[in-house]
Amino acid sequence: MIPVRVKRVLIVITALLVVVGASFAAFRWQEHFPSARCQICGRVTPKETAFQRVAPHGTLRACCRTCAMHFMINHPGLVRKALATDFTLNPSD
Ligand SMILES: [Zn+2]
Repeated sequence: MIPVRVKRVLIVITALLVVVGASFAAFRWQEHFPSARCQICGRVTPKETAFQRVAPHGTLRACCRTCAMHFMINHPGLVRKALATDFTLNPSD
């Protein structure tokens, strides 16, 4: 028979291990599958309004055409190509 005090300690240790393990798993998941965030405003990018700009240093993602336009206005000549998602013809649906 395990004393009650030892049971409590084991329960606390188990709970701490579960919390630490879940946090580590969430960190690894986020690192492996980063959410699509707007690189201008930081909000989540909805697939219906996603906007991509191809620049010399790589592709940048925006959540909407407004963020994309702000980037293009503030960085004239940097964007080589812009790809907007058509809300009504979204091929991912
Ligand atoms: Zn944005």
